[in-house]
Amino acid sequence: MRVVVVGGGLTGLTAAWCLREHAEVTVLEAADRTGGQIRTIDLAGARLDVGADAMLARQPEGVELARELGLGDDLVEPRTGAVWLWVRGRLRPLPEGTVMGAPTDPVALARSGVVPPAGLVRAALEPLLPRRALGGDRSVGDLVTERYGRAVTDLLVDPLLSGVYAGSIDRLSAAATAPPLWAAARDHRHLTAGLRAHRRRTSGTAGPVFQTVRGGLGRLVAALADALGERVRTGVAATGLERFGEGWRVATTDGPLEADHVVIALPAAPAAQLLSAAAPDVAGALGEFRTASVAVTALAYARADAERVVEGSGFLVPRREGRLVKAATWSSRKWPHLADAESFLVRASVGRVDDPRGLELDDEQLAERVDAELREAMGLTGPARERRVVRWTDAMPQYDVGHLQRVAELRASLRRGRPGLHVGGAALDGVGLPARIRDGRRLATEVAEGPLGTR
Ligand SMILES: Cc1cc2nc3c(=O)[nH]c(=O)nc-3n(C[C@H](O)[C@H](O)[C@H](O)COP(=O)(O)OP(=O)(O)OC[C@H]3O[C@@H](n4cnc5c(N)ncnc54)[C@H](O)[C@@H]3O)c2cc1C
Repeated sequence: MRVVVVGGGLTGLTAAWCLREHAEVTVLEAADRTGGQIRTIDLAGARLDVGADAMLARQPEGVELARELGLGDDLVEPRTGAVWLWVRGRLRPLPEGTVMGAPTDPVALARSGVVPPAGLVRAALEPLLPRRALGGDRSVGDLVTERYGRAVTDLLVDPLLSGVYAGSIDRLSAAATAPPLWAAARDHRHLTAGLRAHRRRTSGTAGPVFQTVRGGLGRLVAALADALGERVRTGVAATGLERFGEGWRVATTDGPLEADHVVIALPAAPAAQLLSAAAPDVAGALGEFRTASVAVTALAYARADAERVVEGSGFLVPRREGRLVKAATWSSRKWPHLADAESFLVRASVGRVDDPRGLELDDEQLAERVDAELREAMGLTGPARERRVVRWTDAMPQYDVGHLQRVAELRASLRRGRPGLHVGGAALDGVGLPARIRDGRRLATEVAEGPLGTR
């Protein structure tokens, strides 16, 4: 059985890894490196992730894969989970007891100083409000604002979700991007009661919430690519796809390839382009998915300039503050393996779906602005000694209201008369790394169980 996997990010590499003993697998990766949105660079003598930097450990797939690849002893957990919000000119703590930013403890909310007094009063009314039928999907902004008021939405929930999706809170689907909020609203009379129940269920869960690999997550994808060896072809892009006999022919920048199965593990736009002739309906649906671009600036400060930085893993910035930086990770505080690095390492991201201000600057201007904002927020006493900008264009899928329904319809179209064609990737169901690994495994299972499969 010949399988062509298009896309050498975590999804495609995982699918190929699962299939390696059952099929003749070729992975096509357009770039000259594998890993896609996982990338580790050298900065000031340390290895720093400039794409994904943490795996949710409570979904076991990432940790399991790392162990399978012999990286189990190099799994590390954050030294601190404390997160700050840069609001009204000061870093203020993310209140205790929030679930995706939605509060469950009014006293902790007041103590944090994030939400002004009028917003606190409005939020405290939540348990007294009548229940409204949920109906179909709704935006996270709509759901949270109705229950807690706009201040909680803008100052707490928006920065947390923007950190993941770089999206607009008033368009992101509650069902797809905030399942705990959605379930609490669906199953309980009051959101606060539902979220407290959620916290009771999850707070007893043992083990760290996040983990990474010492030396960077790049090691995870490098280990997969190494194990796959010559099956992975970097610098080769798939440019077209057509039905060919019982199988498929993939046009590439290095000549055509024939396959019984084709696995597409790409972001929405390149996937839509590749499928435009072979599956125009699926391509059309993928082409409708919006994406956001972000840029990550990695910065190294002299240790002496970072002495006043408070304990914590970093800070988030609500959109309404008008800053360029939307999130910053204090990598040297967050990860034990970077704690003793010669410099104090920080990564900061800019860009939201409808805020391209930072992305319009050139690298030098952007790094300068980010550096200045970080110094102001964190009390750093000197400029960064090294700075590096990495751009992620159209990288963040936007799961807008109705997303789950659109994905179900897309999958149904795909199944109609296209045996051997498999589509995955973060555009559909989950941006987190465990979700990507799960998707890679699912794609491999689909191939193996297909008409030409090994069973
Ligand atoms: C800045 C940033 C921070 C993130 N932080 C986290 C985090 O901390 N934790 C977390 O869990 N997730 C995080 N994510 C999300 C996570 O990194 C991604 O969801 C995941 O890596 C996507 O993997 P993928 O394989 O599906 O897609 P991608 O990584 O996008 O891989 C697709 C690959 O396909 C290649 N390609 C494109 N077109 C073609 C073609 N025509 N032919 C061949 N190859 C092609 C691309 O070059 C790319 O390598 C972050 C993402 C970004 C951008």
